[in-house]
Amino acid sequence: MLNLASYAVSDQNSRGRLHPESSPAPRTEFQRDRDRVVHSTSFRRLEYKTQVFVNHEGDLFRTRLTHSIEVAQIARTLARALQLNEDLVEVVALAHDLGHTPFGHAGQDALNACMSDYGGFEHNLQSLRTVDLLEERYGAFDGLNLCFETREGILKHCAPKNAAELGELGERFLHDKRPSLEAQLCNLADEIGYNNHDVDDGLRSELVTIEQMETVRIWARHSAEVRLAFPKITDRRLIHETVRRMINTLAIDLIAQTARNIAEAGVTNIQEVRLAKPLAAFSAEVYIEHRELKQFLRANLYQHYKVLRMTNKAHRIIGDLFRAFMDQPQLLPPQYQQKVKHNKPRTVADYIAGMTDRYAMREYQRLFSVGDI
Ligand code: MG
Repeated sequence: MLNLASYAVSDQNSRGRLHPESSPAPRTEFQRDRDRVVHSTSFRRLEYKTQVFVNHEGDLFRTRLTHSIEVAQIARTLARALQLNEDLVEVVALAHDLGHTPFGHAGQDALNACMSDYGGFEHNLQSLRTVDLLEERYGAFDGLNLCFETREGILKHCAPKNAAELGELGERFLHDKRPSLEAQLCNLADEIGYNNHDVDDGLRSELVTIEQMETVRIWARHSAEVRLAFPKITDRRLIHETVRRMINTLAIDLIAQTARNIAEAGVTNIQEVRLAKPLAAFSAEVYIEHRELKQFLRANLYQHYKVLRMTNKAHRIIGDLFRAFMDQPQLLPPQYQQKVKHNKPRTVADYIAGMTDRYAMREYQRLFSVGDI
């Protein structure tokens, strides 16, 4: 690792693990966390989970696995440029979506509705629950026993009610404190990642057109640059050249503005980072363009009738599965039978949240289709 800035998270200033362990040398503590995430069951399942599209709809689209790898790549670039902990941003990026339900945002909304009388369902909290409790790989403890700073980075948002139950980790949501700069950057790397690949996936699936994209300023100014440099470029290459320029612009702007914010705030250590205002940020101009892109995607891609049809299907599948297991918990696989006695709704939610898109569809068929017993 390169020299870390004084305000970076390091092995030396880490608050450590819930269950103390011996040194991971020659690895750093955060390399060990990354390795644990990469070898986990929930990480492998990300390959068959989607954000906007259903996994079986085509190989063209990003899955949560490729999304997480792209976010890790962007976050590492940001961290290295700012002399922050690259190992930490890598593990946070790779783990940030582990708790996502099948069928992307639609699945999360559906499961949250099912759980409304039982404490709700938040995918960030579920990612934390996955690494803290649900992974079963070690003799000495449940979960992966990750470092405090890794867990803090995974928990991007949290309702105050839930934060109160999380002890030290939930404190910042109750007392208006910030997470590490590494966690702040991962959050924005995630946004850079999904906005840009949703543009790419949206165009390739023809749910949005290049003409529509030209109405979005950040797209228009970069595509104009590409056309000037390559007047005869094909649409396919135009899309990639434009998207990579947008990612580059956003990353460079984020690095520069964050460096300015750090200098202005004068933070010299991690404690001061936690007490300062949010320091990782885009410049005002780029922030406006970035927000405009988000709004465009919301109106034209996420609300596209083909996407809404899938959203509708996801609600039905998740709702029906939830009700069936709540009515008859004996339908759950054997490894859930013990847990379901302690907390039925949460166990059912854990089972459903862990499903991949295609597993959820097959489970639906197994339970409800007469032709497939
Ligand atoms: Mg994400």
